[in-house]
Amino acid sequence: MATATVSGLRQQVRGEIVAPDDKSYDEARKVYNAMIDRRPSVIVRAQGTEDVVAAVNFARESELPVAVRGGGHSVPGFGTGDDAVVIDLAAMRAVEVDPERRTARAQGGTTWGGFNEATHEHGLATTGGIISTTGIGGLTLGGGIGYLARGLGLSCDSLVGAEVVTADGRVLQASERENEDLFWALRGGGGNFGVVTSFEYALHPVKEIYGGPILFELSDAETVLKFYRDFIEDAPEQFGGFPAWQIAPPLPFIPEDRHGEPFLIFVACWAGPIEEGEAAFAPLREVAPVVAEHVGPMPYPALNSAFDALVPAGLQHYWKANFVKELTDEAIAAHLEHGPKVPVVNATVNNNSGTDRCHRVAPDATAFAYRDATFATVIAGMWPDPADNDANIGWVRDFYDATAPLSEEGGYINFMAADDQSRIEANYRQNYGRLVEVKRTYDPGNVFRLNQNIKP
Ligand SMILES: Cc1cc2nc3c(=O)[nH]c(=O)nc-3n(C[C@H](O)[C@H](O)[C@H](O)COP(=O)(O)OP(=O)(O)OC[C@H]3O[C@@H](n4cnc5c(N)ncnc54)[C@H](O)[C@@H]3O)c2cc1C
Repeated sequence: MATATVSGLRQQVRGEIVAPDDKSYDEARKVYNAMIDRRPSVIVRAQGTEDVVAAVNFARESELPVAVRGGGHSVPGFGTGDDAVVIDLAAMRAVEVDPERRTARAQGGTTWGGFNEATHEHGLATTGGIISTTGIGGLTLGGGIGYLARGLGLSCDSLVGAEVVTADGRVLQASERENEDLFWALRGGGGNFGVVTSFEYALHPVKEIYGGPILFELSDAETVLKFYRDFIEDAPEQFGGFPAWQIAPPLPFIPEDRHGEPFLIFVACWAGPIEEGEAAFAPLREVAPVVAEHVGPMPYPALNSAFDALVPAGLQHYWKANFVKELTDEAIAAHLEHGPKVPVVNATVNNNSGTDRCHRVAPDATAFAYRDATFATVIAGMWPDPADNDANIGWVRDFYDATAPLSEEGGYINFMAADDQSRIEANYRQNYGRLVEVKRTYDPGNVFRLNQNIKP
């Protein structure tokens, strides 16, 4: 790329521009997943919507793809790309809460930690991810599954508006009243349609929750999983959380001689009246002896950041995902075979439940199509040492191969790997055709193709 062109871009934007010959280039091109090693043409650290417009125009005119980076958590590394124009939104993290209207407007690079801190002050929250360092951007655009989803729906279900810079450099508002087709596509369609510079969410009264992890012996895992599968069907919608295969980290509430051993953990989150929390989890606690637990009332943001230390930036990541309608005995048997082999403390396998409020939204009301899935399974391989790549990727693939035939054809796009692009159409089911039409309207040249791509 001609230096003159990058110099021109430097004059147009307020934020920093990092090019391959700059000292900070190697740091600036890094993303959260350390397995991703890409060399973008230029990185634009946007300070506002105008910078994003300049960067998109520059990319389109230079015929380069755009990589959008919000929280940076994309496991396939979509926040960067070889020869791409990276638009890094990390400096755009302002959150404004309107407690009267119960809404919050957050800039496109905000993380859930920053969002929750701002809304918690007013006793309000919306569905976010389970880790506070994940970006609201990628998570919401893909759907958004988390502790509060059974009661409040997916993150995208609380989205009420967005400001979007489209491929032609226009700044559009999207909501139920403006650019409705774009708004429909943003709620599940991923980063295919433009750069969202701000998200506006409806908020809900959630301040303290009752929750935390409960550890069960592997020998009781079958009983617990079978109980949970049946229990969750009629559980109150405030009952959130998920069972996970997890190695016990060295935490004081876990007996020291059990540190490093695999367990079936239930991560609990009761978002109803605090005084009802203990009773809500009593059936689960009674189903098998509890090895250790750290459950009680806590501010919602405390649960949202409780597991951050297990997933610092710089780990290697390889994930696979499935939607599951019915967790059959055969599927549970596959989990029992592969779950206890979880290789490292950072890795996990969660069966997130997206029932109740998520089910009550029509499958074609938003781009997110799998409204009838009961669970979103993620086999999240995460490990520190690149020397262990083969073993960890092998574990994820074996687990996936055993469970995929017992699952739906599609999986949650935000939990999927770069090698899952062939499953995109299946992920969007009946909504795929409409997504292609919206893509043709807003990004006919596929400038935004570094994502789980919907081709125009
Ligand atoms: C540790 C960890 C925990 C997770 N937990 C959950 C969870 O609980 N629930 C859940 O649903 N998912 C979860 N995920 C998956 C998560 O939703 C995706 O990784 C998501 O893409 C992360 O968003 P991000 O903004 O941090 O990522 P980025 O890498 O910054 O962005 C990923 C892609 O999203 C799009 N994008 C991001 N921001 C914007 C924007 N402002 N405008 C346009 N496009 C944008 C772009 O295509 C971008 O390439 C988790 C991931 C990790 C690594």
